[in-house]
Amino acid sequence: MTDPARLTGAVLTIDLEAIVTNWRRLRDESGSGHVAAVVKADAYGLGVAHVVPALHAAGCRHFFVAHLIEALEVVDILPRGSFVAVLSGLNPGAESACAAAGVIPVLNSLGQARRWIAQARIDNRRLPAILQVDSGMSRLGLPPHEAAELAADQELTERLSILAVMSHLACADEPGAPANLAQAEAFGQLADLFPGVPRSLANSGGCLLGERFAGDIARPGIALYGGDPATGDHAPFAPVVRLEAAVIQMREIPAGTGVGYGMTWHAPVPTRLATIGVGYADGWLRSLSGQGAAWFGEARLPIVGRVSMDSIIVDISALPEGALAEGDMVELIGPHQTIDDVAHAAGTISYEILTSLGQRYHRVYRPAAAQQELAA
Ligand SMILES: *Cc1c(COP(=O)(O)O)cnc(C)c1O
Repeated sequence: MTDPARLTGAVLTIDLEAIVTNWRRLRDESGSGHVAAVVKADAYGLGVAHVVPALHAAGCRHFFVAHLIEALEVVDILPRGSFVAVLSGLNPGAESACAAAGVIPVLNSLGQARRWIAQARIDNRRLPAILQVDSGMSRLGLPPHEAAELAADQELTERLSILAVMSHLACADEPGAPANLAQAEAFGQLADLFPGVPRSLANSGGCLLGERFAGDIARPGIALYGGDPATGDHAPFAPVVRLEAAVIQMREIPAGTGVGYGMTWHAPVPTRLATIGVGYADGWLRSLSGQGAAWFGEARLPIVGRVSMDSIIVDISALPEGALAEGDMVELIGPHQTIDDVAHAAGTISYEILTSLGQRYHRVYRPAAAQQELAA
């Protein structure tokens, strides 16, 4: 049988054990609180169907997604009654679907809270909810006056079971930013309106800011997936993703020859090139045109010319003649080049590199040890 990796241009390897390692590290560092997993956008592009069971087997019991459609997929993977919360709020008209699925909406406005209370009245049972307050980011969450109004509403606690009060940090990736302490302070005051309710503030970057930020439920995403959540000199999180792509053709061109769409690069000297089977349709962003590199062994092979839909061209002059052949795999993400390195070359963040990863890669999942034990 043909190796499935040969049916496509590139192989994406996702290390579930590394995700579990990163989750355990955050749990061990976060003191007494719970550490949730943010698995929105298909677990940052890595596949909820694989990531969620691995984390659950490791002991993770709280999951956050962005949209109800994502939550419906995640609740199907988990045991009944699991904690799956929707960060983007409760869409008008989605109340009964949310309640029927047992999904926890994050209530971001008074209107959302009122509609969820109305649903609880219709269903004649208490419905679970998380309240988000805006502590300074101005994106999602109840502004202070709405939070105060809701806190004074008897029906809130009669009809709903408030599992947490949360907020989100705007500058958690900058440990020295004064906004972090200001938000922690504002959040503390708003959370005091809901006495006894667990608190949730920290994303990945927030988890590195210290106990004050960890709260009762931390909500890391990117650190689980091996991205660097913040500036500063913390230990790196375990790399999760490896991307290798095939050499699909090689050639030698004379000095002065143009390369790729628009011929934006001309060989200054006679040059050996390899065309690699990955392009912007795979999430190898077009902004990597003429930026960054592939690796073969210890040799760095710079990308020359524009990124095409299905291919890139690299300069392989650094390699001895005959060192590379059609079908060989070069490293695009791996030991020589992290997702943050690629993001830097592309002028973006590792979040965008991960969530752009393409659908036509051959995907290989390295299982997590805890799951193997369960299966054995
Ligand atoms: C995406 C998101 C997170 C996770 O953020 P990371 O920086 O990936 O750790 C946490 N909380 C909220 C509200 C989010 O939108």
